[in-house]
Amino acid sequence: MKIVVTGGAGFIGSHLVEALIAEKNEVHILDNLTTGKYEYIHPKAIIHSVDIRSKKAKEIIMKEKPELVFHLAAQADVAISIENPLYDTEVNVNGTINLLEACRQANVRKIIFSSTSAVYGNLQKELIKENDDAHPISYYGLSKWTAEKYMELYSNLFGLSYTILRYGNVYGPRQTAKGEGGVVAVFLDKIRKDMTLNVHGDGEQTRDFVFVKDVVAANLAAARYGNKETIHISTSNNTSVNQLVSRLAELHGDPIHTNYTAARTGDIKHSCLDNTKAKQILHWHPQYTIYSGLEETYLYSKNQPVQLP
Ligand code: NAD
Repeated sequence: MKIVVTGGAGFIGSHLVEALIAEKNEVHILDNLTTGKYEYIHPKAIIHSVDIRSKKAKEIIMKEKPELVFHLAAQADVAISIENPLYDTEVNVNGTINLLEACRQANVRKIIFSSTSAVYGNLQKELIKENDDAHPISYYGLSKWTAEKYMELYSNLFGLSYTILRYGNVYGPRQTAKGEGGVVAVFLDKIRKDMTLNVHGDGEQTRDFVFVKDVVAANLAAARYGNKETIHISTSNNTSVNQLVSRLAELHGDPIHTNYTAARTGDIKHSCLDNTKAKQILHWHPQYTIYSGLEETYLYSKNQPVQLP
């Protein structure tokens, strides 16, 4: 099958491309390498170094006429979205519209969109469900949510099939210390350099950490199931930052130094996504626990060269 993956040189996208190529698909990557890396690109993938906002990106989809488009390319850094909301919107909203136009004209069977728990903002709820209200508190959350709305409307107007996957905090090999949900990557980077880990607040804030290979499996399932659905890809389990530090210390063996700093303004205290819908509709459930996922990520990180400043 011919497939386009936008953002296929990035953290999650590169793992997805690997899985699609292992299943003998012809994979075209659309990525301008702003945060993606050449070394992450699978040698059997066809790379188009283009911006998703460009006419060229649209033309590639219209020429290649893929059966599926996995749309992961994004400005995925909350801080950048606050500094530069226009750029964030251009990539996450206008870029998505450009792709939707191309998908419609190329008769793409389905688009699978990577979205985020950031759409909910600071929802004070123990377990968030897909039909809970979205109240983004960052431009990033707002632009991803707006892109979701365009997808829904495109589907209503033109019959384009889609599945929106809202991820919890994704972690795993190849994640960089920047962007969404990067606390695991930040801590591992510091551990490799034998530096102190800065914990914001009391460390009791919790997140729903989902391993990247589980996210890939969910994307593969979404190619088959779940038309016009918005679905959480998460573990439905809370892990606190303090628990994360303890587990990393266990894996590391040597002591890890921590420094507790002031809580960040606007930081969400708890965020956990109910994954019942993913189990029912996608027939998917996470295969990795925080223990097995962190172990694989730790071992990967340990073998990376330490970059000199
Ligand atoms: P990433 O930054 O590693 O990957 C994004 C990729 O998109 C990069 O390869 C980058 O070069 C490319 N890109 C950015 N702007 C582009 C543009 N204008 N044109 C073409 N390519 C462009 O981020 P990631 O963590 O792999 O995130 C992938 C997707 O998953 C994003 O849509 C993000 O919003 C979503 N997401 C990630 C997380 C997480 O925890 N990492 C959580 C929720 C949702």
